[in-house]
Amino acid sequence: MDAELLRRYLEFYQDLGVRDLYRQAAAGPVSPTEPPEKRLPDEILPGPSGTPPPEAGDSLLKILRDIGDCRRCRLHEGRANIVFGVGNETSPLVFVGEGPGGDEDAQGIPFVGRAGQLLTQMIENTAKKEGIALQREQVYICNVVKCRPPGNRTPEPDEMEICGQFLHRQLLTIRPKAICALGGTAARALTGHKQGVTKMRGNWYHWRGIPVMVTYHPSYLLRAYNQAAKREAWEDLKKLIHFVYD
Ligand code: URA
Repeated sequence: MDAELLRRYLEFYQDLGVRDLYRQAAAGPVSPTEPPEKRLPDEILPGPSGTPPPEAGDSLLKILRDIGDCRRCRLHEGRANIVFGVGNETSPLVFVGEGPGGDEDAQGIPFVGRAGQLLTQMIENTAKKEGIALQREQVYICNVVKCRPPGNRTPEPDEMEICGQFLHRQLLTIRPKAICALGGTAARALTGHKQGVTKMRGNWYHWRGIPVMVTYHPSYLLRAYNQAAKREAWEDLKKLIHFVYD
């Protein structure tokens, strides 16, 4: 990165109120078969956008208040509702999707449309088959961006950067035992890796020392020609749920 680009990055973060920056470390995949170490990091590992550690006393309510009537990026123009997150604020497991769709935008709740119904089934049925009682309400669910991208397009890098600060604060506040990245956008946002989800799925990565399991986005699994991927997603969830709840 040349000096000019670095200067512009620093100004950008300063405008966002970021005061401390951390050097980025490559977050390599952990062995797909072995769960990652269960300890939290003794040094703060940066996320892909280098957000600072949580302020003492941060809370989901404070984050929501800080988002306010957000107009920090162009996504606010078409939104009906900010879709912050839903579920158990002390959950050991957090699911991160890409961004709200039409149903989510209308209701202000993540994953309530068709993809959301499939996600609920995947969570509850996989756990049940493994002898673990788990309801959707017991986990926490949110997205990389909090406003619906027009036409459900993939969020742009600058939109993910700007909104990412709130996702990072949510994750640092909840401090789950593991995170599930649903689809390529969430996987890239959390791990910094650019590989496709097909290569990443089923593998453990980490975000600031928190294990991240990558799997397919439920919308992808809804497409008739992706049925084979469903079995793989089920395997990924099985691994994840055992790691968190055993
Ligand atoms: N897709 C997402 O990525 N998030 C939602 O909340 C709904 C659909």
